[in-house]
Amino acid sequence: MLFDLENVQKSYGNYQALKGITLKIQEGSVGLLGPNGAGKSTLIKSLLGLLELSGGSASVLGFRLPEDTHKIRQSIGYMPENDCYLPSMTAVSYVALMGGLTGMPRSQALSRAHETLHYVGLGEARYRKLGGFSTGMKQRVKLAQALVHGPRLVFLDEPTNGLDPQGRDEMLDLIGDVKSRGISVVLSSHILYDVEKVCESMIMLDQGELIHFGTIAALKADRQKSIVEIETKEQNEQFAEILKARGFSVQQQGLRLQVRLVAPQTVQGLLDAAIEEDIQVRRFMPAELTLEKAFLSLLDEHAHKAPAA
Ligand code: ADP
Repeated sequence: MLFDLENVQKSYGNYQALKGITLKIQEGSVGLLGPNGAGKSTLIKSLLGLLELSGGSASVLGFRLPEDTHKIRQSIGYMPENDCYLPSMTAVSYVALMGGLTGMPRSQALSRAHETLHYVGLGEARYRKLGGFSTGMKQRVKLAQALVHGPRLVFLDEPTNGLDPQGRDEMLDLIGDVKSRGISVVLSSHILYDVEKVCESMIMLDQGELIHFGTIAALKADRQKSIVEIETKEQNEQFAEILKARGFSVQQQGLRLQVRLVAPQTVQGLLDAAIEEDIQVRRFMPAELTLEKAFLSLLDEHAHKAPAA
C-alpha cells in the first residue's frame, strides 16, 4: 500500500492546513489536485516526514511516521516545485550528491548519477554547470535527483512548470516511462491535462479537507450522470434565470446551459420547468466531461456544502 492515512491533521499555529484526512491508496499513479492553499504541499511534506503531524497517524509504503522517516526517505524520490540545486555544481556532481544524501555509498551514487542523467536525456550535459541550464533541463535534472537512489515512489510537484507544449509532452512521456518501470507516481499539478495523461486515480483537496478520492474514470462517469447540457431556442438566458429561481445550479457554457443536478433534483424536474415556462428545448444531453469540468463541479459542490466563511 502506498499510503494509509487516518485522520491526518497539520496546523501552522492556529491555522489548520489539513483537517483530518483519512485515506488508503494502493500502488499506482495518483494525481494530487486542489486550488492554491488547499494543503497539497503540506500533505506531501508531511508524508515525506519533513513536517510533524499535529494529529492522526500515517504510514507510507508500509513505514510508519514519524518512527520510520529514514526508511521512507530512502524509498521515496521528491521532485520539488521550486529550484533545488547549487548553480555552480555540474549536473553529475549534484545528482551524485543527492544520491549520497539518501545513504548510497559515494561510488555507487556517482555511477547511478551518470545512468540517471542519461535516462532523463541529459547525458550530453552531465558535466555542465546547472546555472546555465534551460527550464526544461532543470526540470529533467530535478527528476534525475528524485530517481537516483532507485525509489519505489516519487512525488512530482508541478513537473511541467515553465515548459512549452513539446517540452511538457516529453516530460509526461518520461513520467510514463518511470511508471512503466514499476515506480509509483504522485503527481501534484494544476494542469489537469497532465494529471489525466499520467494518473489512474486522484486525491482532491480543498481548504484542508479531502473532497474526493477515486479513479479518474469513475469520477467522470459519476459526474456525467449529474451534469446535463441544454440548448434552447434563443431562450438560454431566460431559462437560466428560471432554473436558478427553482434552485438549480446553472452555468453558461458557450451556446449551452450546463446544469448540475443535486439530489433530489432530477432530469424530469428540468424538463417540467421547461414545459411549465414554455421554453423550447433544442438539445438536451449529458455533459461531455473533461477532468477539468469534473474537478470544477466537485469544487462547486464542496463550496455549497461548506458552512459560510
Ligand atoms: P497548496 O500546496 O495546496 O497550495 P499549502 O499546503 O502550501 O497549499 O498551504 C495550505 C495552507 O497552509 C495555505 O493557507 C498556506 O497559506 C498555509 N501555510 C503553508 N505553509 C505555511 C507555513 N509554513 N506557515 C503558515 N501557514 C502556512
